[in-house]
Order: sequence, then structure tokens, then C-alpha cells
Amino acid sequence: MIKVTVWNEFVHEKTNPKCKELYPNGIHGAIADFLSREEDITVRTATLDDPECGLTDEVLADTDVLIWWGHAAHAKVPDEIAARVKNAVQNGMGFIPLHSSHASKPFVMLMGTAGNLSWRESKDFERLWVLTHAHPITAHIPDYIELEHEETYAEPFGIPDPDELLMIGWFSGGEVFRSACTFKRNNGRIFYFQPGHETFPTYYNEHVQKVIINAVRWAKPLCRTEKIEFPCIKPTNFLSEILNKDE
Ligand code: ZN
Repeated sequence: MIKVTVWNEFVHEKTNPKCKELYPNGIHGAIADFLSREEDITVRTATLDDPECGLTDEVLADTDVLIWWGHAAHAKVPDEIAARVKNAVQNGMGFIPLHSSHASKPFVMLMGTAGNLSWRESKDFERLWVLTHAHPITAHIPDYIELEHEETYAEPFGIPDPDELLMIGWFSGGEVFRSACTFKRNNGRIFYFQPGHETFPTYYNEHVQKVIINAVRWAKPLCRTEKIEFPCIKPTNFLSEILNKDE
């Protein structure tokens, strides 16, 4: 089983009536719902108001893939917790920051860049173009996903060049955005996915759900360590020993 923790700041759902109506159990609840229907995935949720943001050492050690949704409360996540997430990712935990989590502390720490972008909160139509189906995340996803309304995110996007660019989002205002990007950091795999503004029903879209499910399977740890050691090393052999081996 793949153990997933869905983290959400859980702020807009309490303050914005539209968001509350769309996501009565929180965005984390909606994501946990569709993930928990998969036979190979078990899900827990955690939010900002939980002790230690619900992200204790024990929870992270028991998490294969962490999904993150944040926006209004990035600054309220203590640096210490963000660093704990960053370390867990470097040790092999998968990490899937969604939508406005481009500016979350863990993602910014892992990227080493500001993660900033241009945006417009309107009701633009978005078409997410799949660039390749030769990848576990986009296999069997249609050539494009259409979202009736989504917040416009636009280039330039302040990230390092991704290892793989899997989708480009095109918005009806004319903008384009690198909407689905993968990164590796030490042992950990990261998938950033752009759609998911809090006042639109994006996480009920079957194709968006399938991308996230695929991403969970892709990001699960291949090699999980307690910490990565970078020791001062002795030579494994000496050239003289190799040269003299046959004598
Ligand atoms: Zn948004």
C-alpha cells in the first residue's frame, strides 16, 4: 500500500462561502476521497491547525507521498516544519505540491528559487495540453484536459528547469504555463501540478483526479533513508593494487 498524507492549510473553506460550498470537507477531504477509492492507496489528512501542522516526525516517517495545498497561510507554516518536510523529501518521500503551493515554504526550499509566477484571478477557460504519454503520470490521460474555469497562471514561472515537463496549460486570456513538472531532490521525487483554485470544482474533474493518482504512484519512494550521509571517504582501492593484481 502507498501511504499518502494530504496536507491542506484549510483556510479558504472556513472563510470563503463559495469554497465552503464546493469543498464542504475541505480540499484535503475531496482529494482524500478519490484517492481512498484506489486499492493500493491509504490516505490520512493533516491541516495547519493540527499540532505541529499534523506533520510530526512520526507522520512523515509513515508517509510515502505528501500532497500539499496552501495559499493564504504559507507564512504560518513554521520554518522548522517546512524544513522537516524538505528533509523527508530528500530522504525519499514523494511530494506533490498543488496549485498555489508553488509559493509554499517546502516547495520553495526544495527548488531554491522564489517559485513566483504571474497570475489573474478570473474565470478563464484552461486547456492543459499533454506533451507526452510516455510517462507514468500522463499515460492514458487524454491529449488535453479542459477546465471550464481556472485561475490564470502565466510564465515566467520562477522554478529551476524541471527534469520533465509533462503539460502546458493554455488559458483563454492567451497565457501559457508549465503546469505539470517533475523534479528529483536527492532520493525524493516531486511533481508540481498547477490546476486547483479554491473557488472552482477542479478536484472533481476525473482527469485531474487521474493525474494526481498517477503522480502518487510515480512519486512513491524508490529508496527511503533516514538520512543521506555524505562522509569523508577513503579510497576504495589504489591504482597500484589494480595494476599489480595479475603479477
Ligand atoms: Zn488560486
